[in-house]
Amino acid sequence: MATEPQTAGSEQLERELAELLAVERFEPPREFREQALLKDPAIYAEAERDPLGFWSAQAEQLHWFRRWDRVLDDSDPPFYKWFTGGTINASYNCLDRHVEAGRGDRVAFHWRGEEGEERDITYAQLLADVQRLANALKALGIGKGDVVGIYVPMIPEVVVSMLACARIGAPHNVVFGGFSAEAVRERMEFSQAKALITVDGAARKGKTAPVKERVDEVMGDLETLEAIVVIRSKGTPCSMREGRDVYYDEIVAAADPDCPAEPLDAEHPLYILYTSGSTAKPKGILHTTGGYLTGVAATHRYVFDLKPDADTYWCAADVGWVTGHSYIVYGPLCNGATSVMWEGAPDYPDRGIWWALVERYGVSILYCAPTAIRACVKWGAEWPRRHDLSSLRLLGTVGEPINPKAWLWYHKVIGGGRCPIVDTWWQTETGAIMITPLPGITATKPGSATQPFPGVRAEVRDESTGQPMQEGQGLLVLTRPWPSMLRTLYREEERFVETYFARFGPETYLVGDAARVDKDGYVWVIGRIDDVVNVSGHRLSTAEVESAIVAHADVAEAAVIGQHDEDTGQAIVAFVTLQGELEGDDSVVEGIRATVAERIGKFARPKRIIWTDDLPKTRSGKIMRRLLRDIAEGRELGDVTTLRDPAVTAKLKERVAELQAAEG
Ligand code: ATP
Ligand code: MG
Repeated sequence: MATEPQTAGSEQLERELAELLAVERFEPPREFREQALLKDPAIYAEAERDPLGFWSAQAEQLHWFRRWDRVLDDSDPPFYKWFTGGTINASYNCLDRHVEAGRGDRVAFHWRGEEGEERDITYAQLLADVQRLANALKALGIGKGDVVGIYVPMIPEVVVSMLACARIGAPHNVVFGGFSAEAVRERMEFSQAKALITVDGAARKGKTAPVKERVDEVMGDLETLEAIVVIRSKGTPCSMREGRDVYYDEIVAAADPDCPAEPLDAEHPLYILYTSGSTAKPKGILHTTGGYLTGVAATHRYVFDLKPDADTYWCAADVGWVTGHSYIVYGPLCNGATSVMWEGAPDYPDRGIWWALVERYGVSILYCAPTAIRACVKWGAEWPRRHDLSSLRLLGTVGEPINPKAWLWYHKVIGGGRCPIVDTWWQTETGAIMITPLPGITATKPGSATQPFPGVRAEVRDESTGQPMQEGQGLLVLTRPWPSMLRTLYREEERFVETYFARFGPETYLVGDAARVDKDGYVWVIGRIDDVVNVSGHRLSTAEVESAIVAHADVAEAAVIGQHDEDTGQAIVAFVTLQGELEGDDSVVEGIRATVAERIGKFARPKRIIWTDDLPKTRSGKIMRRLLRDIAEGRELGDVTTLRDPAVTAKLKERVAELQAAEG
């Protein structure tokens, strides 16, 4: 384990970042633009003129067993169908196609284990493994339409499992490895999974956590679950139930090596995946095959400017989130990319591991979440500075609004000032990136996801009149169907219609996020509809206030909520984490209030600032403001099934109770 690096030079960095905060736009660097796949902004107008033509051209880049009859069937909104009459297979598109074209030796994944283990998996190997597992699943009685749960950490077998399911038309339901066994049971029960693929144990920062044993404790009586396939990953002892449990390596070894990909209807379900649960009880999103692949392959190619022969791509999400499904598995493999896959956490064996991996594999495209960047800011620039990051040429973020300070830090410290940043806005529901810069075309503004991807139509609607706004803040909607859109909420069709289409009717998808559109037509997603705060009649977004707070040099992270206030309607309460080991005191409070007053206005100054070492976050790292509201109001906490660390909320509850007692 490396020692804590010195923090020399951090003041200079602060000064440089403060200067950059004044820059309004960042044009694509000339060299980048010249080499980019897309450099002509005419693509937007073309796609706008003929969106269906645009999407069918994208679909044509895939392999179809049978071509579609109709691009879009919109006869029964909001139940849209894409590429009807076409037949396709996701695993064929991810694997066979490349192997048949002579690219079987290309590395699909440079896998790296927590303890430094390395495995390079080529497309040909992946195809061989997938075929055997697909046959083994069939032998277990799994067929087209049967749901298969996958509860596997970041090891190559998780990809093999997903693609084996896709090969035979069994929709997968992946549960993030960090979830508890209870959450797995709930999801298996709800989706009536017939089989579950899991592991004996998982690596957790130098230790091994038993997985199968925990699964057994909760899964016992689930009748629909006929088989559990156990991957022997860490050699963790576990018991196997006769007649139900089998070892992955054994069934695969016994399976026939050839399993041709099943031609599936374009609308055949590819997977079910639950949302993060940031705002409410998680929703089971259903995605189908043809439209989904079209969306993820096109966005992956163009947003990341992917040159499969030259790039090494790394999406540092977990495969258990939609980001992992679309941009670790289906998008990159459809496009024949070479990716990095990292088993572990960003701070093990030390806080420099990500940057060591970038250097080791020559990563050229890095895609991660603002929460990770904010953690790196807190840990200090010294960690990345120990490594050669010159291979990087493009950076991306997803998951939450990124505050300008974190954006600039990413730009400067990680990107060396030369890499465009694509801030990609999308959701589990949208399947693929919806609002994003195109790196060779779009001038970026830190904190804005910029513009809809070609063919996508987004609007910001006035909250009271429901009318589209040219400029201003309101509700984000998508007003045209897109191929990778969710088809329904699994077994909750009413909730599907209610959640997304009750407000503006069946042809207008209500996103659930609040957004601002500026004079240049740039979209700024500023948080959830529920997170908008109203102070003395000023409608403020949490993201805006948080960005202002984080602009203070001592602050690493902040979350803002509105609390009922006698005088102003709502008052702003800020939960703040400081950089490194700094302690909060009155002078920092005043400093933060002054920073907010300067950047937004006096009315936006937080009335209360509560120091905290950490914020309640989902397991995917998003701040759960609804829990902060519950804490501030002294209510019972709402659904906490996706809360990462209950200790954080417990501590905060105590802290708030103490403060309230002290205030009388
Ligand atoms: P739930 O729907 O259960 O509350 P969730 O919305 O966090 O959970 P996801 O589908 O993983 O679940 O996340 C999508 C949301 O993440 C978006 O609606 C948006 O609020 C936020 N988001 C994603 N990318 C961005 C981005 N680039 N900028 C701003 N917000 C983003
Ligand atoms: Mg959501």
